[in-house]
Amino acid sequence: MTVVTRFAPSPTGLLHVGGVRTALFSWLYARRMKGKFILRVEDTDRERSTDEAVGVILEGMDWLGLKADEGPYYQTQRFDRYREVIAGMLAAGTAYHCYCTKQELDALREGQIARKEKPRYTGICRDRHQPRPGVSPVVRFKNPLEGSVVVDDLVHGAVTFQNTELDDLIIARSDGTPTYNFCVVVDDMDMGITHVIRGDDHLNNTPRQMNMLRALGAKPPVYAHVPMILGPDGAKLSKRHGAVSVLQYEEEGFLPDALLNYLVRLGWSHGDQEVFTREEMVAAFDIHDVNKAASAFNPEKLLWLNQQHMVRAAPSAVVPYLRAHLKRLGIDSSDQALLEGVIVAQRERAKTLKEMAQNSRFFFVDTVEIDPKAAAKHLTPEALALLREVRAALAGLAEWTPVSLHAALNDLSTRVGAGLGKIAQPVRVAVTGTAVSPPIDATLALLGRERSLARIDAVLARTPA
Ligand code: GLU
Repeated sequence: MTVVTRFAPSPTGLLHVGGVRTALFSWLYARRMKGKFILRVEDTDRERSTDEAVGVILEGMDWLGLKADEGPYYQTQRFDRYREVIAGMLAAGTAYHCYCTKQELDALREGQIARKEKPRYTGICRDRHQPRPGVSPVVRFKNPLEGSVVVDDLVHGAVTFQNTELDDLIIARSDGTPTYNFCVVVDDMDMGITHVIRGDDHLNNTPRQMNMLRALGAKPPVYAHVPMILGPDGAKLSKRHGAVSVLQYEEEGFLPDALLNYLVRLGWSHGDQEVFTREEMVAAFDIHDVNKAASAFNPEKLLWLNQQHMVRAAPSAVVPYLRAHLKRLGIDSSDQALLEGVIVAQRERAKTLKEMAQNSRFFFVDTVEIDPKAAAKHLTPEALALLREVRAALAGLAEWTPVSLHAALNDLSTRVGAGLGKIAQPVRVAVTGTAVSPPIDATLALLGRERSLARIDAVLARTPA
């Protein structure tokens, strides 16, 4: 059997990490089983669905590299198909027109509440075969009256629902539009979904969906309802906790693989391994191993993982992401060697690509502005005298490499009897404009001879000896 999974977001809110984790589990399981992963946009709720939310889903999935083998399908483009299935069910007697008016339903409900019964539709119209003039009917599914439905959930185990608890669901409104739970059923059936992986807020929909699938002669898929992600305070993750659009993680400078690595570990583990490449995730992930405890979102750990991924990834793989962040700062560099060099020099000192880009501006601009505070501290007359010595020592170098630069600065330090730090700091301020940078030899090597010497000269020129 080929495994077919799907990610079926409703574009009623912006895709955030909770949805991304569901997408990831579905994608990983399909990849692991060499199956198929489908993207389906559940946009039947036209009032609440927005183009912006659809855009975030498509862009977000693209940025994350969770490529779908099929889709995106849109439910709003499948209305003819839903109508066809409803007509078939009416003909087969597995669904019926319900002519109950709102007043009648309200009265029924009030009576049930007064008798302390659970409010439910009692199937009055199952036997009403004549249309009632002036009432546009809804269509209801004829749910089995007896027995139970067992959801053999991969995460929660067997969960049993009594059919007496499930009333006859409306599958088409009086204007003919199909309802959400019904569209899911038709889609899962038509798309040959074998494994439904979704948030456990949908577990209660599952018995009805299974009953409808069976009524349609389809075999229900395997279900895995994954636990919610909680905020650090234990409440359901919400905007308050920064449950923002997935694209904001891109803006903040996270690598997609780091975010996915972070999310895969919420509810799933593989020994005590914390850092996974995408390939390692695909090789190790199994939806059967996801546990049902909800997990809390931990921004600190996400930052840590991001740095781990920046450090471990091939610099060339990080280049496009750093470039994107530099562009936001108005820097457009295609100097591959410089970009890779900057990544290697900076990746231990930044937790995000945004931070890396901000700290690395000086590598890409023509001239730097000197931070007055750094100048006051590190460009004192005494320091400038040392800087002059450094300038002379560096200018004579045959080779401009980290090794030769290191040796030259070391020699100078011995010769003038000043610590390496004392010598490096004025150079650093001169070439970077600030008192913080990667090791000075690496910094100078990346900047190159011309730019380094020109910046030192500029500082020496503004304060004549
Ligand atoms: N559209 C639903 C949601 O966004 C998911 C439904 C499903 O996966 O079956 O919560």
